[in-house]
Amino acid sequence: MSARLIVKTDEQVELIRQSCLLVGRTLAEVKKHIRPGVSTKVLDKVAEDFIRSHGGEPAFLNYAPSNHKPFPATICASPNDVVVHGIPSENVVLKEGDIISVDVGVKMNGWYGDSAYTFTVGEVAPEVLRLLHVTKESLYKGVEQAYAGSRVGNISYAVSSHVTAHGYSVVREMVGHGLGQNLHEEPSIPNAGVKRGHGVKLLEGLVIAIEPMINMGTAKLKIDSDGWTARAADGKPSAHFEHTVVVRRGKPEILTTFEFIESLS
Ligand code: MG
Ligand code: MG
Repeated sequence: MSARLIVKTDEQVELIRQSCLLVGRTLAEVKKHIRPGVSTKVLDKVAEDFIRSHGGEPAFLNYAPSNHKPFPATICASPNDVVVHGIPSENVVLKEGDIISVDVGVKMNGWYGDSAYTFTVGEVAPEVLRLLHVTKESLYKGVEQAYAGSRVGNISYAVSSHVTAHGYSVVREMVGHGLGQNLHEEPSIPNAGVKRGHGVKLLEGLVIAIEPMINMGTAKLKIDSDGWTARAADGKPSAHFEHTVVVRRGKPEILTTFEFIESLS
C-alpha cells in the first residue's frame, strides 16, 4: 500500500474541528427549513448564507475533480433514490414522505470539514426509516474501526457486514476519503470490497471522512445528464451518513457532530 498519508498535528486537528463544527451547525440550519413544499434550491441558499456568515466558505461550490464540470452549489441535496451529488434546484420540491440526504463541506482557515445526514420529510414509511437507522448504525460501526494501527478494510467490513445483514446493498463507486487542506486526500475509504485486516494502515493523526451510502435495492448507480446526480439504478431509496474523524490510539475521535441536528427534535 503506497498511499501518501498526510498525518495532522494536534493544532491542525483543532482547525479541522472548527470547520467540522460549522458543518454540523449548517446541517442543523438546513434541517430547520426541511418541510413539504420547500425546494432544494432554498435549502442551498440557507446553507450558503449560514456558512459565509460564520466565516467559512462552501467547499463543494465550484469543486471540479479532473475531467468533470464544477459542482454548481453549496450542498449536495439528494432526495429519495438519489444516492449523492444531487444538484439543488427550484424544480426539486420536497413532499411528504420523502427522504433527503444533505452533504455539507466547509473550508475555513484553509482546512476542510465534511459531513452528511439523511433527513425525513414529514411522515416516512417504516421500511424507509429502517434504511436510515441501519445506515447511521453502519457509520458508527465503521467509525469504531478508525483507530491507530487498524486498516481501511476493517472499516469496509464493519459497514458492509452490518448493512448486508439487513438486506441492503453498499454503493461501490463512491467512497470515503482523507481530508485536511484538501477536500479529498489519501486514503480512499470504500464501504465494501476491502477485506478485514487488509488495505491501508491507519496512522494516528490521520483525518478521514467515513460515509456509507446504502441502497434499499440494487447497489448499481446511474448518473443523470447533469453529470453529477447519482441515482440508484432501480429507483429505490438510498441513505447517506458521514462523519469526519481523526484516527487516535485505541479510539477515534469524531470531529463533526449530529448533536445540533438531533437536538432540534
Ligand atoms: Mg460529504
Ligand atoms: Mg466526504
